[in-house]
Amino acid sequence: MLRSFFIALSTNRTLRSFSERSSVGRAMSSRFVAGMQVEEALDVAAKLNKEGIAVSLDSLGESVSTREEAEHSASIYYDLLEAIETRKLNANVSLKLTQMGMDFDPALAEEITAGIVARAAMAQSFVRIDMEGSGLTDATLSMTQRLFLRFPGRVGTVLQAYLFRTESDAEKLIAEGIRIRLCKGAYKEPPEIAFPAKADVDANYVKLMKRLVTSRVFCGIATHDEAIVDQLREFVVANGVPKSAFEFQMLYGIRRDLQRKLVKEGYGVRVYVPFGTEWFPYFMRRLAERPANVLFLAKNFFKS
Ligand code: FAD
Repeated sequence: MLRSFFIALSTNRTLRSFSERSSVGRAMSSRFVAGMQVEEALDVAAKLNKEGIAVSLDSLGESVSTREEAEHSASIYYDLLEAIETRKLNANVSLKLTQMGMDFDPALAEEITAGIVARAAMAQSFVRIDMEGSGLTDATLSMTQRLFLRFPGRVGTVLQAYLFRTESDAEKLIAEGIRIRLCKGAYKEPPEIAFPAKADVDANYVKLMKRLVTSRVFCGIATHDEAIVDQLREFVVANGVPKSAFEFQMLYGIRRDLQRKLVKEGYGVRVYVPFGTEWFPYFMRRLAERPANVLFLAKNFFKS
C-alpha cells in the first residue's frame, strides 16, 4: 500500500513544485541525488571512478510539456558528454524519453534523442534510455531499435522483470545485439500486465538475468537484491560465464557496501548517478521501494 502511495505522490505536480524549491526537500533528497548542479555530479563520478566504479549520469527530469523544456534537457546531456570526454571519466548517460518531449511530440523526442546519441557516439560513449511506465514500453523499444540501427552499439534500453511481456522483448533485443539493463520495475502497473507479487517478480528477474548473461550481448544487472546477486555469482561460476559478459548496476546512495564488495571481487559495477533540481519523482520512487527510508531520513534529518 505504501508503495502505491509514494508512486502516486511522485506524479503530484503541486507537491513536486513545492518540494523541489524547499531547502528541507533538497537536503532530504541528497541521500539519493548527487547534487543540484552538473559539476557536483561530475565530481561524484570522478570519486566513484577512483574506487573502480563506472558511472551512468542522469540529469533528473521527466514529463516535460514544451519544446523549450525538452531542448533544455538535451543541452544538459551535451554538456555532460563533453565533460565526460574532457575529464576522461568512465561514464555514460541515462535519460528518459518524457524528458525529451515524448508525452507531447514523439517525433521531437526522437530527433532530440538522436542528437544526444550522435554526440555520445563522437565521445565513444553510450546512451541508456531508461524505461518508464508501461504506456511507453512499445514506443521506447521501437525508438531504441531505430536509433541502434543508426548508431550501432551506442544506445541501449531497460527491461522490467515485473512485466509479463519482458521475456519476449528480451529475445527481440538480444537478436538485434541491443544492450539491456534488467531491473525489477519502479512504476505502478496493473495485474493484467505485471506480476503483482514480489516473489514472482524476483523469480522472473532471476530467469531473465540468466538468459541475459549467457546471451553474448553485454548486459547490466541492475539490482540491490543481495540474494539475486549471490545467485548470479553462483550461476556464472557453475556455467563458466566470464565476468566481462555483464556488469552489476546500482543506484547512487544504495548498498554502497555491496558495490565495493563486488568491485573487490573483480566484477564490473556501474552506479547510476542522478542529479539536478527536478529530483522529486525520482526521490518518491526510491521511497516507494523501501518505505523504511522515510523513517531513516526523518531520523537523520532531526539528528543534524
Ligand atoms: P528490491 O527487492 O526492491 O530491494 C532489494 C534490497 O535492496 C532491499 O531489501 C534493500 O536492501 C535494497 N534497496 C532497494 N531499493 C532501495 C531503496 N530505494 N533504498 C534503500 N535500499 C533499497 N526502474 C525502472 O522502472 N526503469 C528504469 O529505467 C530503472 N533503471 C534503474 C537503473 C538502475 C541502475 C537500478 C539499480 C535500478 C533501476 N530501476 C529502474 C529501479 C528498479 O526497477 C527497482 O525499482 C529498484 O532497483 C529496486 O529493486 P531492487 O532490484 O533493488 O530490489
